[in-house]
Amino acid sequence: MDVVTMSIDRIRCDGHGLCAELLPELIRLDDWGYPIIEPGSIPEELVSHARRAVASCPVVALKLLTARDGRRR
Ligand code: SF4
Repeated sequence: MDVVTMSIDRIRCDGHGLCAELLPELIRLDDWGYPIIEPGSIPEELVSHARRAVASCPVVALKLLTARDGRRR
């Protein structure tokens, strides 16, 4: 079974918070408006929402990682 996780490039992120609006189940904003991503794997029912959040980031700061049997691919 695939395990999907999300990572963020904090250098790229400009903190506008669009991702938190699109994926509030997994992303909240800190006091300065920068995202905090829920650690761990993304529930299967939220993966499509996560893909949309990644695609919508204006500075390409978000990435989805997929692993199978403990190996990234
Ligand atoms: S959408 Fe991208 S730039 Fe905006 S807060 Fe989220 S990660 Fe940062």
